[in-house]
Amino acid sequence: MKAVAVTPGTREVRLIEEEAPRVTAPTHAKLRMLDVGVCGTDREICAFQYGTPPDGTEHLVIGHESLGEVVEVGPAVSRLQRGDLVVPMVRRPCAHADCAACRAGRQDFCFTGDFAERGIKNLHGFMTEFVVDDERYMHVVPRALRDVAVLVEPLTIAEKALTQVDQVQQRLPWACEFGPGKPRQMCHRAVVIGAGPVGLLGAMALVARGFDTWVYSREPAPNPKADLAASIGAHYFSAQDTSPEQLAEHVGNIDVVYEATGASAVAFRMMRVLGTNGIFAFTGVPGRKAAIEVDTDVIMRNLVLKNQVVFGTVNAGVEAFEAAIRDVALFQERWPGAVRALITGRYPVEAHRDLLVGSAQGIKNVLTFA
Ligand code: BGC
Repeated sequence: MKAVAVTPGTREVRLIEEEAPRVTAPTHAKLRMLDVGVCGTDREICAFQYGTPPDGTEHLVIGHESLGEVVEVGPAVSRLQRGDLVVPMVRRPCAHADCAACRAGRQDFCFTGDFAERGIKNLHGFMTEFVVDDERYMHVVPRALRDVAVLVEPLTIAEKALTQVDQVQQRLPWACEFGPGKPRQMCHRAVVIGAGPVGLLGAMALVARGFDTWVYSREPAPNPKADLAASIGAHYFSAQDTSPEQLAEHVGNIDVVYEATGASAVAFRMMRVLGTNGIFAFTGVPGRKAAIEVDTDVIMRNLVLKNQVVFGTVNAGVEAFEAAIRDVALFQERWPGAVRALITGRYPVEAHRDLLVGSAQGIKNVLTFA
């Protein structure tokens, strides 16, 4: 079977031929991969800035945003049947007995750092024709979502972040009041930094939860990402003509910032205008650039005097996958055009080089194996 692999030592990204995996454990299922999304993490792995091959191999099969179809199940598989569409999870637990997070099935909070991630760290990924794994890491998606379910994994990042926002905000009176017959009240205001797939999916999740939402990104409007933001009822501002301070004047009290670019300079400038009782969620992973100056006194003053919380979040657990599947269905019903527009194009696996090492184009590019 074909697979897209990178070999860090030789700095090569190429299509390889591998033997197809077999179901060897009773709880394993075999998937035929249908769609695999290309994301910033894959591009960084291909630029050899990130990613680790499995022990004993020189190459890493990449790909972690995916949709597959079950083609075979082991005798003890109880939740899956042949023909089911499933989205596999990315992270696998570490082996340490004292890692409370991994032992509780929350490897997205692994304490030791010895977790593995398919397509990223120590395990081959999904950019290949067949994958075998334990059924516990697979989430069934309704067939109606066939064309868009590859967006589930990137949406899990927002789902996990927004669950944490809800948990943290239980520290204060935070609920919005909805009156019978009144339009859905937008009492909270959110700023999303970045209009890539993670940012735009995060914006959809925020709008769907009733947040008045501003997307703040580099490119000046009009552009397709700004149009997409407008079509889901979010506002779009460009960092090229609006400073974070000017943005905050439009927004009012910024209750939530959802950061989705990995651009630390913009993020820390935005942190200065986070509102009272505000919460700032980092999801991007910055590359190493030259150090920048940050006014730490302003930030620390605001953190204390405005009761602010800043947190980072990575990967996602079972609940976030289930929530993302429900939300993709909801977004599809509410904004079918916008959800479709997130997927810029589908390409045969032979086009992998352009998408992985060429200049990034569009929003979400998908490699297809079907
Ligand atoms: C993936 C996560 C992963 C993270 C860090 C992201 O692109 O979506 O599942 O944990 O990279 O490796």
